[in-house]
Amino acid sequence: MTTAPPSPIDQFEEVKQCYTEQEIALIDRAYAFASAAHKGQLRMSGTPHIYHCLEVAIILTELRMDSASICAGLLHDVLEDTDIAYETMKAEFPSPIPELVEGVTKISTLRFRSAREEQVENLRKMILAMAIDIRVIIIKLSDRLHNMRTLQYLPLDKQLSISRDTLDIYAQLANRLGMTRIRSELEDLAMSYLHSEAYQEITQNVARKKAQREVLIQRSIAYLRDHMERHDISATIQGRSKHFYSIFQKMQKQHLSFDEIYDLSALRIVTETLEQCYDILGLVHSVWRPIPGRFKDYIALPKENMYQSIHTTVVGLGGEVTEIQIRTSDMHKVAEEGIAAHWLYKEGRTQEEEIDQKLLWLRQLTEWIKDIRDPSDFLNALKEDVFADIVFCFSPKGDVVELPKDSTPIDFAYHIHTEIGEHCIGARVNKKYVPLRYTLHNGDMVEIITSKTGHPSQDWLDIVKTSRARNKIRHYFKSKNYEADIQQGKDLLWKATRAKNLTITQAELPDRLAPHLRAFRANSFEELLAEIGFGSIIAGQVVAKLTPEPQKPEPAKPSRAQRRSTPGVVIAGVQDPLVRFAGCCSPIPGDPIVGFVTRGRGVSIHKEECASLRHLIVQSSQDKSRLIPTQWDVNQPTYSKVLVKVVSRDRTGLLKDLTSVISSMNLMILGSHSKSYSQKGQAILKFQILVENANQINDLLNRLKNVNGVISLTRTLRHNY
Ligand code: MN
Repeated sequence: MTTAPPSPIDQFEEVKQCYTEQEIALIDRAYAFASAAHKGQLRMSGTPHIYHCLEVAIILTELRMDSASICAGLLHDVLEDTDIAYETMKAEFPSPIPELVEGVTKISTLRFRSAREEQVENLRKMILAMAIDIRVIIIKLSDRLHNMRTLQYLPLDKQLSISRDTLDIYAQLANRLGMTRIRSELEDLAMSYLHSEAYQEITQNVARKKAQREVLIQRSIAYLRDHMERHDISATIQGRSKHFYSIFQKMQKQHLSFDEIYDLSALRIVTETLEQCYDILGLVHSVWRPIPGRFKDYIALPKENMYQSIHTTVVGLGGEVTEIQIRTSDMHKVAEEGIAAHWLYKEGRTQEEEIDQKLLWLRQLTEWIKDIRDPSDFLNALKEDVFADIVFCFSPKGDVVELPKDSTPIDFAYHIHTEIGEHCIGARVNKKYVPLRYTLHNGDMVEIITSKTGHPSQDWLDIVKTSRARNKIRHYFKSKNYEADIQQGKDLLWKATRAKNLTITQAELPDRLAPHLRAFRANSFEELLAEIGFGSIIAGQVVAKLTPEPQKPEPAKPSRAQRRSTPGVVIAGVQDPLVRFAGCCSPIPGDPIVGFVTRGRGVSIHKEECASLRHLIVQSSQDKSRLIPTQWDVNQPTYSKVLVKVVSRDRTGLLKDLTSVISSMNLMILGSHSKSYSQKGQAILKFQILVENANQINDLLNRLKNVNGVISLTRTLRHNY
């Protein structure tokens, strides 16, 4: 007969003292609330249920979690086990306490030993709950830890199924989150039920050898301490023993008996600075011979769960193989508590740093799921199904968005809000600009760029994956504005046609303009009208297409790339934007640039520092929302026409020499013109050349400068628009 566990009330009263007075008031309120709610409820052990809540809260204080987590720990079973509704709790406690409790409750109700589809659905729900607030899983792990500590009071079948879930899911999670201490305890407890014979054998063996090992460890510590003092290095040296389950795993994997396991115990050296870690490593290797292939520097290359430490194995005192870990005290905290150590409230941490921290762990979480590879792993099979259909993405604030697989930033934007979707003009994923047709991946942090003048485009309908986005886009095009834009566009176009005195009837316009739709990036005549009406295309430009142009001799056909319709800039991910380069500052590829949304003339590209641009913003009395982040498209070569004017001493062979320099750089000459001024003995030559970037121009000018006779060089840069 096992005796009931002692009351944790006194211990709780003591540990809560490390919180502020205000926080303690809230904690006390949560305690009183939970106490009243669970009144009369007993655990299987015969103790009041509230003791369990207190124990969970105590584990959370040991992890130094924030006061909201402590309160949620106290309240974690209220929604599940009492009549109290979520709304009641929401009225009673400030955010995020009710949300945390709800998250924990959701996970608690998941059954992992169920039909396949349900398992998948449950894992998905768990990930989602954790992703919304990672504290949820820390509270859940603390709850599970206390349940495992008191598992002996439950019937055998419960003991086994709970232990299996603990080993397969919760210990794995704790491991991935770097919570080593909790993971080891969960594994050892689960093992004692699932593999009770092996557990007995190992614990007895460890105990049998303990005395002998202790002596050796104490001697080793004294020996090392002596050496470190001589070198003026201060550090704490501790003996460390492997947890039982890891010994068990090693015996099984490598088919070893207990006596064949030599690294049962090890030393851990904790010091203050990173430099000291390496000093200590040097010292250790100078007194004890290291075993080749056993050295690992997780300080320089941290593990994915943030674990940092130096590992080495040496032939220690008395020829004993000894494992040694060296780390700083900060690294030690992370090694033991993992994510919980990171969650620690740090004074002076900015909101941005908080979010970065959160995103880091969220990404960890999705990475973890992706990384599960062990085919024997229970979760392995599940994750395939979970991620077959969905992706989890995050907003810059760390909010979670669950979308169907292959979704795009447009789907994301519409998911957040219809307004965001409708004014979306671009997106950044993980802080990099991406096209709107980009396929989102698990763990992507998605930032939507909007503009007041932005609006949906017909081709979005081919890109989006969610029915929500598709319906909203369809609705937009059906909406009043769109109809009004078409009407307005029709009027404007007709006015412009008459202004040019063209002999075209209104009915002929669709056919006559059909060949030119592409030039305006319109999918239909109707869309062209809507764009004109909206103001992103001016009617005059469209009508100009119908006016016969004077035939000019075509210069040598430039390459395909040059005839591309994209101008070599990426405007915050907008596909094929209508772009022109501002004449005021003539940006050169490589210059920092920015786009300015004009009314009716698409986007004009300015240098970031352009003075007229600043003037424009003020003049148009618009806020900065008309500015769009714009970058040179590094993936596609940018072709620009440059006019180079060469003043040279006139001589025979001059033209040939200059052109051979240009073509030696594989640059295309689109046209040239030369004139000689015999009274000065000089010639002026002009070349129109296609170049990719500013570097190429500079390179070219440097080479031309060296051509015999060249006096001066000037260039103007004109884009092919
Ligand atoms: Mn519980």
